Parts: sequence; structure tokens; C-alpha cells
Amino acid sequence: MRSWSAPNVPRLPGSGLPLRLYDTAARGLRETAPAGPARMYVCGITPYDATHLGHANTYLAFDLVNRVWRDGGHEVHYTQNATDVDDPLLERAKATGTDWRALAGREIELFRSDMEALRILPPREYVGVTEVVGQIAELIGRLTERGATYRLDGDVYFSVAAAPKFGAVSGYSEDTMLDLFAERGGDPQREGKRHPLDWVLWRAERPGEPSWPAPFGPGRPGWHIECTAIALRNLGSGFDVAGGGSDLIFPHHEMGACEGHVATGEWPFAKAYVHAGMVALDGAKMSKSKGNLVFVSRLRETADPMAVRLALLARHYRSDWEWTPEQLQEAEARLARWRAAVERPSGPGASALLAGVRERLAEDLDAPGALALIDAWAAGEGDDTEAPGLVRDVADALLGVALPGRAG
Ligand code: ZN
Repeated sequence: MRSWSAPNVPRLPGSGLPLRLYDTAARGLRETAPAGPARMYVCGITPYDATHLGHANTYLAFDLVNRVWRDGGHEVHYTQNATDVDDPLLERAKATGTDWRALAGREIELFRSDMEALRILPPREYVGVTEVVGQIAELIGRLTERGATYRLDGDVYFSVAAAPKFGAVSGYSEDTMLDLFAERGGDPQREGKRHPLDWVLWRAERPGEPSWPAPFGPGRPGWHIECTAIALRNLGSGFDVAGGGSDLIFPHHEMGACEGHVATGEWPFAKAYVHAGMVALDGAKMSKSKGNLVFVSRLRETADPMAVRLALLARHYRSDWEWTPEQLQEAEARLARWRAAVERPSGPGASALLAGVRERLAEDLDAPGALALIDAWAAGEGDDTEAPGLVRDVADALLGVALPGRAG
């Protein structure tokens, strides 16, 4: 389906640095050194509610990855899905008397406009699950040929016993896995499963639910297999970064990696698993189930989207933190200082600033460090007439923060 429109990205002098990122599977920093185009898959939204700050924080982190790679001379191949059919979406549609397709369409459109306002670079492929159910069914067929699946009352399950790499992404103990699986949409208690951690690949048609034809009977895809199919189809296995919020480490990315491995025989499915921290509000992680959400679209009604972006950039992407309205005020003040500084006829020389911002971002996306460097430049004085324009381009290209052009 349609992606969203791309903001302009100014070219900067010279070339950026290779990007080091914290890889959850490696439990440490590793250099992402893509050969040829850099390939990234970031898990998309389930479109039953508006984009909240937690989402924005995640997509912003991977927008920085995209920008740093581009600055380093890479072409970036970025794919994202939208889970436009799933239990929470169907439940919300039913509860509100809305057609599930209309609900998904409306929320995806709002998501696009939020991403555009925040100047997030769009994926090359933005894929709705309902567009590719046939491809997903085909992949389930491949897993079945490899003996990795079994049937339970018409549903198709992946057998964890068939996944030699299970546990490689998260490194979690089985107890932790069981807890998280139950908490995040899994069904460890279901009777008849071979192992409590086996997961559903295909959910047979239930009365009143949408379904699609498949060789193993009409139904709809499970959650993990959709991303595996969309990533394989567009990026192939061994792509550079699989991304999402840290709540996707398990089960979503663990199980998806195993599906990809068993289907292709290739490992790793993604070279790095990169996860953004969780944003909290009033002491609890922002989540739809808790209802403690700050919506980007609501913030945009009164705040400059660039201030929202700066407020998120002020925290390291991997940290868990709590949102407060004061953070937005601080970001608005910073935005005003930066705008005033780039509108000056001259300022301190900025080539060291460019090198410094590149260095900070290349080191696991240290955006707070990059912000501090621009703060220091904006507070200084100098007679370099090229500097304000260069700093404006640095903020735009590397941080995605648009400042107005030079006065006059
Ligand atoms: Zn996903």
C-alpha cells in the first residue's frame, strides 16, 4: 500500500561514519557494515488506535539509523508492515461498531500524517498484512514441508522443537519466555499443544471473523509469520537490522527469526536486532491496554512537531523513560534557540560540529550527545558566515529537525 511522503534530506560535505548499534542478540555493540544497500525491517503498528509517543520514539530511532546510513553513502532499503488484521483490531472494531477495514484504513492514514509531521523517512515498501496473505500462506507451506508445523483443531502451529536457534535473539530463560508469551498475545496454556511455547502460524476461520483461503483451510495469519514473510519477500534473509520496541524482543522477534531460519536454512535471519526503549507516563509503560497514552496527533494540535521530535531525541533511544509536559517545553525552548542561531549572519565555525555529530550518532545513536554539541555551537559566537547554513543542514540531514533557511 501507499507509504508516506519523504522529507528532503540535504547532502552534507564529506561522508559519515560506519554505524555501531547495540544488537540484542549479540548482547553488545556491533558495527553495521552493509554490503551494498543497507536493508532494514521495522515492525509496524496494529492500526486500531492513534500513534502514541512510544511508537514515535521507536520509529524515530530507526529514522536515525536510516539517516546515518545514508550519510555514510549507503542506499537504504527499508520495509515496514502494518498488522491490518489481528485480534486487538477486530475486538476494537466490534466494540465500537466499526468495520475493521475502515478502522484500519483510518488509523493507518493518521499514522502516515504523524510520520510526515515528524519528518520520518518513509519505508520503500509499506505492506499491509491483508495485501500479502497468499505469500504468508506460502511460507507456512514451506515450514510444513520442513516438518516444523502441526495442526490443532484446524489451526497451524510452529513447533518450537523444530527451531535449533530458539532463544538466540532474546537469551531469555524458559520461565521468562513463558511469562512474556502469556503477556504478549501467546497461548502457553492451550490444551493439545506439543510445547507451551509453540506459536500459531495460521488461525482457522472463526464465526464472524475475516478469513482467506489457504491449502490448510480458510483462516488468517498469526502475528510473527507476517513479518517474516514480508521481510523475506522484500529484503531476503541476512538483512542488516530488524527493529522495533523492546517489547518485541520476545516473543515477536525470537519467533520470527526461527521461522526465517527454518524456512530458508540461513542464519542469522537479521544481522542485528535493535530495540528502542519504552516510554512511560504516570509511572507505567505507555500502552494501549493501560490507556495511558499521549497521542502524537493530539500533541501536534498545539506543539511544533519539530519540538516533539527534539523532545524524543533528548533521550537515548534505548533508555526507558517517563514523558512529562515539561520535556516538551524544554524542547520548544531548544528549538527556538537553534532557530535563532541559524538565522544569524555568522557563527562559530561548524566543521568540527559536523564531525562531532557524526561521531555521536555513529556510536549507537547518541542523539542527546549530538544535541549538546549543537546547543554549544548555538551558544557561541563567531564570524564564519557559512556556519549557520551548515548547522541548519546538519540538524536537518542527521537529526531530521528542520530549521528555517538563512534570513534574507
Ligand atoms: Zn514484526
